[in-house]
Amino acid sequence: MLRVDIITIFPKMFSAVLDESIMKRAQAKKLVDFRVHDLRDYTKDAHRKVDDRPFGGGPGMVMTPQPLVDAVKKIKGRRKVKVIYMCPGGTTFNQKKAHEFSKEKGLIVLCGHYEGIDERVRELVVDESISIGDYVLTGGEVPAMVVVDAVVRLIPGVLGKEASLDEESFEAGRLEYPQYTRPANFSGKKVPAVLLSGNHEAVKTWRIEESLRRTRKFRPDLLS
Ligand code: SAM
Repeated sequence: MLRVDIITIFPKMFSAVLDESIMKRAQAKKLVDFRVHDLRDYTKDAHRKVDDRPFGGGPGMVMTPQPLVDAVKKIKGRRKVKVIYMCPGGTTFNQKKAHEFSKEKGLIVLCGHYEGIDERVRELVVDESISIGDYVLTGGEVPAMVVVDAVVRLIPGVLGKEASLDEESFEAGRLEYPQYTRPANFSGKKVPAVLLSGNHEAVKTWRIEESLRRTRKFRPDLLS
C-alpha cells in the first residue's frame, strides 16, 4: 500500500478531493493511505506562526524551517520514503513521473505558501522539487492534489479492470484517440462509421491513426 503524507497549513482543503470518488474508493480498498498533517501542529512558536519576513528584504513572507523540518523528520521516522516539495521552479510533473511515484512505498508532500519555503528545508529534507506547470499558484495544496490524483490512479486495482491505462494520453508517447458514445447522430454530427462497423481490427487501426493525427496537430513535441 502507498502511504501519502501531506504537510499543509490548510488541511481542510484536502477532504473534498481525497474523500470523494476514486480516491475514496482507493482508500476503502486499502490501496492507499492518506494522512494530512497541519504544519502548525509542529511549530515551536507560541502563536503557531510558521512564516517570517525574508532576510535581505523584499515583499511577502517565507515559511520558516523549524516546523517543516521537524514535521518531515517526525512523519518520516526511519522509513525510506521520498519527500517532495511542490514548487513552481521544480521538475515539471508528467505521466512518467506519476508512474515513478506510484511505485514508491511512501511519499511525503510539502505544500508551500507565501513566497515559498526557507531554502534550508530543501537542503535538509527534500528529495525532489516538483512543479505542475509554468505558472504560479497561491499555495502547494492544489499542485499536491494534482500529483496525488495522477499517482494514485496508476496503482494497480485503483481504477478497476475496465480501465485501459496503456491507451491513455502520454502512455505511448502520444495523445489518446477521440472518444464517442450514444447517440450515433448528435445535432447532425455523426460518429465515424468505422466505430459502428463491429470490425475490431479496423477500429484499432483507426484509433492509432487518429491518435497520431491528434498528437501531430496538438502536441508535435511528444512525437519528437
Ligand atoms: N515565490 C515563489 C516563486 O516565485 O517561485 C512562488 C511561491 S507560491 C506563491 C507559494 C507556493 O505555492 C509555493 O511554495 C509552492 O508550494 C506552491 N506552488 C505555486 N505554484 C506552483 C506550481 N506551478 N507547481 C507546484 N507548486 C506550486
